[in-house]
Amino acid sequence: MQRITILGATGSIGVSTLDVLARHPDKYRVYALSAHERVDALAAQCRVFRPQRAVVGTAAAAARLRDLLAGLPIDVAHGEAALCEIASSPDTDTVMAAIVGAAGLAPALAAARAGKKILLANKEALVMSGQLFMDAVKEHKATLLPIDSEHNAIFQSLPGTYGRSPDAAGVAKILLTASGGPFLQRAVETLEAVTPEEACKHPNWSMGRKISVDSATMMNKGLEVIEAHWLFGAPADRIEVVIHPQSVIHSMVSYVDGSVLAQLGNPDMRTPIAHALAYPERIASGVEQLDLTQWAALAFHKPDFDRFPCLALAFDALRAGGTAPALLNAANEVAVQAFLDRRIGFRDIDRVVRRVMDENPHGAATSIEAVMAQDARARAAAERIVHAS
Ligand code: NAD
Ligand code: MG
Repeated sequence: MQRITILGATGSIGVSTLDVLARHPDKYRVYALSAHERVDALAAQCRVFRPQRAVVGTAAAAARLRDLLAGLPIDVAHGEAALCEIASSPDTDTVMAAIVGAAGLAPALAAARAGKKILLANKEALVMSGQLFMDAVKEHKATLLPIDSEHNAIFQSLPGTYGRSPDAAGVAKILLTASGGPFLQRAVETLEAVTPEEACKHPNWSMGRKISVDSATMMNKGLEVIEAHWLFGAPADRIEVVIHPQSVIHSMVSYVDGSVLAQLGNPDMRTPIAHALAYPERIASGVEQLDLTQWAALAFHKPDFDRFPCLALAFDALRAGGTAPALLNAANEVAVQAFLDRRIGFRDIDRVVRRVMDENPHGAATSIEAVMAQDARARAAAERIVHAS
């Protein structure tokens, strides 16, 4: 029996994870669930999955959850320390890190330091503190399995070589596929005017609002380039973004002998979730088998960095190193939220990120405290720019 903690249980990834777990009650038991504000949704999940512990964002939310769960033997707590506790408790084996944004870093790191099996959806944690995170995984013998569909595909295309340097594994390039999001074909000059609703309407994937906007700007792919760098040890110039609008191939690895290995499937996050949960075994996920005869053609082309400046900004941040990716990530989180709140336009997202990157020096990412301080400075700078615009 694997005992599971789900951080961010009410989100898109959290719900897909519970869907897979419900198919295998003989293999998995839920130890703890967390949510930020959606107390009713979390209470409903608690009634079905009967975790020992539940964690929410605030004391008020915790009080409400206690009322809703009265009579059930579920310990309810709130705040970051409680999140770190359910991520590192000796009563859990596996932690699904599916909180969105920088808020997910501390609990994911707590899981790493406790040597857990970590299923990492929260890419922002690796973007902010890649070296520190990977060091903690290594030092505490944690197991890190990528949930992001591209990285899960790359992992599956690197048989037996995970953790080796790309050169030792004969890897020439990592080919990170990208759908291009909802604005791949739209006239560039009309991008200024797109609404949050349009930006959140992804052609292939159903996801949370933040990552949906990131997909529309392609900052998501930029964050994934940085994520791939840390997970697979590949330098920026060995990671290539390939636009593949159908999202059937979820990424590829190109080897020095000319071989290219890929992982394919219907675009449904339950596949990488089931893969990581059961690894190295396989379990059913509820995802329909891929029928390639249904696809008339699969297309591939190069990304347009003028249409998607956020992708270039992310490559710049990776090449700059240190706390530059933390700056990028924090500025982006603030800008995306401001766009969702209709305080700035769609194209202002890349402008805010660029200005924060240009106007704030980055430093060395020597400690989590240094990274968090950079994160706070970047947020304040981004807020000022948003406010003035
Ligand atoms: P979502 O918005 O649907 O859910 C986010 C979850 O995090 C919710 O449970 C919410 O309660 C919790 N949360 C939000 N703010 C929080 C805070 N300040 N403190 C604690 N908890 C908080 O997001 P999602 O689409 O499920 O994405 C989650 C993560 O997985 C993101 O990092 C995203 O980039 C990554 N990811 C998602 C997908 C996808 O298909 N949805 C694919 C790949 C990677
Ligand atoms: Mg992805």
